Amino acid sequence: MRLLLFGHMTVWVELDGVCFVTDPWFGPHGRLERWLAPRTIPPAVHSAALSRVGAILASHHHLDHLDRFSLTLARLLGWRVIGSEAVAARARRTGVREAIALRPGQSAALGPLRVEAVPAEHPLAADAIGFLVRGSRTLYFSGDTRATAAVTGAISHPIDVALVQAACAHYPFLGDDGMSLPEAAALLRAVRPRWSVPLHLHCSGKWLDRRTGLRIRSDNAAAVRAALGEWLGRLADEGLHGRLLEPGELVDVED
Ligand SMILES: [Zn+2]
Ligand SMILES: [Zn+2]
Repeated sequence: MRLLLFGHMTVWVELDGVCFVTDPWFGPHGRLERWLAPRTIPPAVHSAALSRVGAILASHHHLDHLDRFSLTLARLLGWRVIGSEAVAARARRTGVREAIALRPGQSAALGPLRVEAVPAEHPLAADAIGFLVRGSRTLYFSGDTRATAAVTGAISHPIDVALVQAACAHYPFLGDDGMSLPEAAALLRAVRPRWSVPLHLHCSGKWLDRRTGLRIRSDNAAAVRAALGEWLGRLADEGLHGRLLEPGELVDVED
């Protein structure tokens, strides 16, 4: 399995000869998107990798997980779109020929791979899902979710690589709307993948840890990196190996 982080939660994955991108966000494009989702660094799009993509796997329809530009690419380049119901509906409206909606428990074929939807708990996107991609290796992609028993219980073992949300928004009445570092660690302890990657780290305002007050901003990359390094170190002490991907860096995941 090869991974290439374009940024935030957009990961190019090559598994068993099939290439796809998760939660594609190539923007923001325009002032409204910039205001809604202030990106801390531009996406590191790798054109050679992009030219091999055959599908988008999108967990939900929020702007930082599926933008109009990615759906336009899907329409023009004939990519298949697999995702939540809102994702598939949006893809069809854009003119994407093959848009597949999945609910937890349902699955779709992607060449030799099996793409299975697993539960996600994301109050601001009720139809959000996570993915298990099964081939010669098994990949878990969390999307935006809480680490509830229903979510972790539905993830069958063993997972080779887990791509997990590690920073989230927080609202006065709703609380956290996803996983920050402590909750992502709880999910990893429950799922015990052989290898994990923290994601959702390139949108300003997301909380990494509310207890320490650490929040992603455009000017605190060093503090964020240090906190992620510590977090990965603590998990490694528990036998849970992880890696921080640098945007644009191609990584071969070995056994
Ligand atoms: Zn979301
Ligand atoms: Zn998000």
